[in-house]
Amino acid sequence: MTPYPEITSAVLHRLLVLQAKRHLGPGVPGASIEQRLKEASEDQIRAFLETISHSFREAEQQSARQARALLISTDEANTLTSRLAKLNDELGDALTFIENELTTLARDFPESITPRPASENRITALAEQFKQVASTWHIHERGIIEAQRLAESLRKEADRANKAKSDFLAAMSHEIRTPLNGVIGMTGLLLQTQLNEQQLEQAETIHSCGDTLLSLINNILDYSKIESGNLDLENVPFILQNAIEDVLDLFKHSMSSKKIEILIWIDPATPHAFVGDLTRFRQILINLVGNAVKFTPEGQIELTIQPNSTGKRGKWLASVHDTGIGIPPDRMDRLFRVFSQVDASTTREFGGTGLGLAISLRLVEAMGGEIWVENRTPVGSTFHFSFDLPGCEPPEASISILNGPELLWGATVLVIDDLALNLKIIEAYLLNWGAKAICFLSPISALEWIKAGNSYQLLITDQDMPGMTGTELLDSIHDLGLPDIPSLLLTSVGWSPVTQSGVSVLSKPVKAFELARCIGGLIGGRPVVSEPLRKQGTAPRFKYFPAKVLVAEDNPVNQRLIRLLLAQFGVDAEYRNNGLEALESYEISRPDIILMDVRMPEMDGYEATRRIRQLPGVTDDHPQIIALTANALTDERNVGLKAGMNDYLTKPVMRSELFRALLRACRLTAGETEIENHH
Ligand code: ADP
Repeated sequence: MTPYPEITSAVLHRLLVLQAKRHLGPGVPGASIEQRLKEASEDQIRAFLETISHSFREAEQQSARQARALLISTDEANTLTSRLAKLNDELGDALTFIENELTTLARDFPESITPRPASENRITALAEQFKQVASTWHIHERGIIEAQRLAESLRKEADRANKAKSDFLAAMSHEIRTPLNGVIGMTGLLLQTQLNEQQLEQAETIHSCGDTLLSLINNILDYSKIESGNLDLENVPFILQNAIEDVLDLFKHSMSSKKIEILIWIDPATPHAFVGDLTRFRQILINLVGNAVKFTPEGQIELTIQPNSTGKRGKWLASVHDTGIGIPPDRMDRLFRVFSQVDASTTREFGGTGLGLAISLRLVEAMGGEIWVENRTPVGSTFHFSFDLPGCEPPEASISILNGPELLWGATVLVIDDLALNLKIIEAYLLNWGAKAICFLSPISALEWIKAGNSYQLLITDQDMPGMTGTELLDSIHDLGLPDIPSLLLTSVGWSPVTQSGVSVLSKPVKAFELARCIGGLIGGRPVVSEPLRKQGTAPRFKYFPAKVLVAEDNPVNQRLIRLLLAQFGVDAEYRNNGLEALESYEISRPDIILMDVRMPEMDGYEATRRIRQLPGVTDDHPQIIALTANALTDERNVGLKAGMNDYLTKPVMRSELFRALLRACRLTAGETEIENHH
C-alpha cells in the first residue's frame, strides 16, 4: 500500500516507457509498449521485465523512506510548535514581571524613572524605562567606586596613624625608660648606703614606684603590640611542669614573706608537654598567680591543670584558686578590660597597672581558649583559662625528671602534711615514680603508725603543722631509738630549720624535679640541703642572738606569723596568749625583749607592761618592751610610752621593721648580735 498512488503510477509509467525503449528496441516511433512487446524477442522481454521489476522495488523503497521522513518532520514540527507556545507564555510572564518591577522602580525613584504612558506600545514603553534604569545604575556605580576610593584612602590614613602611634609609643617608652632607669638605678645605689629610717623608707618608696612605672610601660607596649595584630605565637614543645615551676619560682619570695602556701596539681590525664608559645603561656600564669599572691593575705593558692570539661572553648583548663579578698560580682566582667581595677584603693595598697588581665585575655584567645573568674566560698576567687595547645611527647632530656629516682621503685614512703591537697600532690609524684605513699594529715597519727611497728623507707613531712612541727616529729621519731630512716622536711618559709643529720630540707612549692633530686640524694645516702631562700633574699639572719625573747599575742594567726618571722631571723622565743600569762612568764624566765600585743583578753598589753615595770630589779630599759598595735595613730604610741613601753610596731608587722626593732632592742639590753647578711 502506497500512501501516494498518483505519484507512484506516474513515475511507473515514465519508467516503463524508458525501459521499453532501452530493452525492446526502437520500434516504430510512437508505438505503445504493448506493440513493442509483441515485436520483441523473448530475451528482450525477460530483460525488460527484470529491469522494471527491479526499478519498481527501488521506487517502492524510496517512497517508504520519504513517507517515514515526512512523518518524523511532522512530529518535530509539532513539538517545536508546542515549545514555542510555552516560550511565548513564559515571555509573557517575564514581561509582566519586568513591568511590575519597573513600575515599582518608577514609584521608588520618581526623579530618575518616569511611569510608562498607558497608550504606548508595551515593549517600547518598557525599553524607555530600561534606558532610564541603566543610566541611574551608572550614576550609582560611579558613587560606589568613589566611596571605595575614599575607604581605601581612609584605610591608608588609619595605617599611617597606627604606625605613628606605634612609633610614638616606642619613642615614648624609650624616653621614659631612660630617666626611669636612672631613678631605679640610683635609688638602688642609695638604698645600699647608710640612711636613717625615714630616708630609707622614702628611698624604698621611690624604688617601688619606679618599678611599678616600668612595668606599666612594659604592659602598655605589650598591649598595643597585641592590639595592633602583631601577636605571632611560637610553636615549640615545652614541658608543662617546668613551665609552671618557673612561674612559681618568681613568687617564692613574695610568698615566703606572707603566710601563703602554693600548691600545684596537674591532672594525670594532662600531657606532660605541649607545643606552643612558652613565653606567652607563662605570661598568662604570671599574671594570674601574681594577682593571686597580691590579693591573698593568707591561706592557699592552688594552681591546677586538667582536661577542660566546662563547656568553654579549648581542650585544657588551667585554674588559679586563691583565698584572697575576692571580687564583687558586679565587677567581674569588667576586670578583663584595660585599666580596670576593682577600686582605686586596691591600687594604692597593692600596686598594679590594670592591664594584666586585658593582656591575658588576648593571649588566651590566641591560644584558642577563654578566660573567666568565679568567686569561691567562703573566701577568695578562681581565675580559669582554657587553652587548645596540642600535646606532645616530652623532649628526650627531660624524661628522667618525669620518671623520678630509680631507687624509689617499690619503696614505702611516709608522707605527713596537714593540707590534704599537698598530700595528694606528693602522693601523685610518688605514685608516678613507682613508690607507695602512706599519707597522714596529723603527725601524731603518723607517729602512732610508726610506733605500731610499721616500716618505711623514706619520710616526707611538712614543717608547719598545728600541734607538732616537722622537726618535732623527726625528733620524736629519733627518740624511739629505731634505725634512722632518710627524711625530707618541706618548709614554706625561707629558712632551713636545724635538723638532725640525714634530714634534707626543701622549700615549698615543691618542684617535681627538686623532689626527685633530693630523694635521689637521700636514698643514695647523700642528704641534700636545699639552698635556703634567704641567700637570694634581702632578709638578713642573726647568726648569734644574745637576747631571750617573749611574745605575747592572742591572735593565733598573728602569733604564727611572728613565730615564722622570728624563726627566719634565727631567733627563739617563748609564746604567751595574753598579758597575764606574759606577766607570769616574765617572773620565771626574765626575757630581755618582749613583743607585746596591745589588745589582749584577760590583761591587755599596757597593763602587763605597767605591772612588769613595777617588779623588783626591772628598769625602764630592761626588758625592752615593743608594742604591737593595729593602728598607727600617734596617740597609741604615746599611751604605750607612758605605760613603759620602749618601741612600737604597727600591724601588719613588716619583716624588715621587726628585724630592725629587734636589733635596736638587743643593742640596748643584751649587747652585740652577730648577723649573717647576704646582701
Ligand atoms: P593589676 O595590674 O591592677 O593587677 P589586672 O588586670 O591584673 O591589673 O587586674 C585588674 C584588677 O582585678 C586588679 O586591680 C584587682 O582589682 C582585680 N583582681 C585581679 N585578680 C584578683 C584576685 N586574685 N583577687 C582579687 N582581685 C583581683
